[in-house]
Amino acid sequence: MALLEIRGLTARYGDFQALFGVDIALEAGETLAVIGANGAGKTTLMRSISGVLANAPEQIMFGGEPIGALAAPDVMARGIAMVPEGRKLFPSLSVEENLLIGKYGRAVDGQWSLDTVFALFPILKERRNSPATALSGGQQQMVAIGRALMSNPRVLLCDEISLGLAPVVIRDIYAAFPAIRAAGASIVIVEQDISQALKVADRVYCMMEGRVTLSGAPAALTREAIHAAYFGVR
Ligand code: ATP
Repeated sequence: MALLEIRGLTARYGDFQALFGVDIALEAGETLAVIGANGAGKTTLMRSISGVLANAPEQIMFGGEPIGALAAPDVMARGIAMVPEGRKLFPSLSVEENLLIGKYGRAVDGQWSLDTVFALFPILKERRNSPATALSGGQQQMVAIGRALMSNPRVLLCDEISLGLAPVVIRDIYAAFPAIRAAGASIVIVEQDISQALKVADRVYCMMEGRVTLSGAPAALTREAIHAAYFGVR
């Protein structure tokens, strides 16, 4: 049984249907990438898993239990943490205070603490007393990742963490992923940047218009197949 299983997931915004029966399985220890163009439904998927959007209970199974209808704080308490699109830091709080907020929702001991997050992203230790808004975009993204890690999640969801960042900054952020994996987290990343996704993921799912159009290990997917699944062209 997979650690996290999405089964026939549907989602609507009023009359508009955004997801049409999405099936995704995340095995323990695995890193998955979900790719797709603007509007494919990737963020809706992440918001469904994290409990921001409510779904039918059995559409999302975590550790064999239905969590599809749980609210976000309950999902977080069970060990699924999200790095949201746009980071959503608390602007008036310091870097350290933003990180500490990540601990409140889930009181478990584990690998991640202020010290180990600072070891992962040393620049955050230097800037620990600065307001989050005084940091560069890349540094703010590190705070958002660190905040999620502070809850010692079993699953880390990352929504478009490279959006708007320079390639060298993206590289620095992705350089943290091996340590995050080694600490035991399973990871789902949403990316529009296909090459980045193929580099980091064990398996990739491609979405288009609310459906999974392709999945497999990066080595098994041809460029042509990915293009067809991503853009709907041949
Ligand atoms: P992006 O890369 O732009 O974030 P995405 O793949 O994450 O794209 P979603 O944000 O999940 O896509 O959006 C899927 C569809 O749902 C889109 O057609 C979008 O316009 C629509 N949608 C998203 N949020 C809402 C909302 N709050 N109300 C109505 N429609 C929405």
